[in-house]
Amino acid sequence: MAGDQGPWTIKKILDWTDTYFKSHDIDSPRLAAEILLSHCLDVRRLDLYLQHDRPLNPDELASFRELIKRRISREPVAYITGSKGFWESDFKVAPGVLIPRPDTEVLVEAALKVLAKGGDKPLRVLELGVGSGAVIVSLARSNPEFRCVACDLSLTALGVASSNAAMEPPCPNLSFVAGSWFTPFRPKAQFDLIVSNPPYIPTRDIETLQPEINRYEPLLALDGGPDGLDCIRTIMAEACDYLVPGGTLLLETGSDQREGVDGIFKNCREFASIEFIDDYAGLHRVVKLEKKIANSKPL
Ligand code: GLN
Repeated sequence: MAGDQGPWTIKKILDWTDTYFKSHDIDSPRLAAEILLSHCLDVRRLDLYLQHDRPLNPDELASFRELIKRRISREPVAYITGSKGFWESDFKVAPGVLIPRPDTEVLVEAALKVLAKGGDKPLRVLELGVGSGAVIVSLARSNPEFRCVACDLSLTALGVASSNAAMEPPCPNLSFVAGSWFTPFRPKAQFDLIVSNPPYIPTRDIETLQPEINRYEPLLALDGGPDGLDCIRTIMAEACDYLVPGGTLLLETGSDQREGVDGIFKNCREFASIEFIDDYAGLHRVVKLEKKIANSKPL
């Protein structure tokens, strides 16, 4: 950032950063530059255009330089700014908590469709593995009548998720529980819907992921064991003990895990049906499983 004439205006520094990020193979370089600069100057992205001629003072330049360095070392934009937009809200994120992905909005969409069918009593929803809380907070905010519970093994995740739940608009219909998968709950038909975005990356694939992911994001939220299906297997094997008859389990999965998930389904006799739902890129992203209405009794 030196050797040029004239002051460093917003426009000039954005152009420079865009080129610099491109030369370091940073994804969406212009967008990253804009998000980081608006974070640094504490203005909206739109203001960068409205004030494109504004020169940056030396303090602003120095702090922006630090953000550029962090991004070049592959730290995700969301960890640098501490927030990520998902569904209808901005969510706080922090190291130790998976950054919500746009693909996971498909899970929210599918959950809202299931919940729209309603019921005579307030619907009860459980999320296993809460991360930043993006999924369950979005569901809880969509209808104050839903009774929502979120469970995570990671106290870091529970801390971030509960602070997201306390942000505007708050969701008093959501509570948090610490523990691994179903261990904090009694096996009782109590939830109408269970949702989860469990870790599903096969262990050997972790090191092939982008450095943003494998250097910075929590392994606990990514590593799904040798074939990526360990957690999905556990959740599918136990979910029916906690679902009401006819209740639904929705899981995010890897797009190439259809066959594996189908195989697990065939061994879970309490589910009546399985359906795969595509993400916006047309890849299988969510699996929807419905518990049987009644146990079929032998004749
Ligand atoms: N979709 C995430 C990724 O691409 C993985 C999330 C998960 O394992 N649940 O990194």
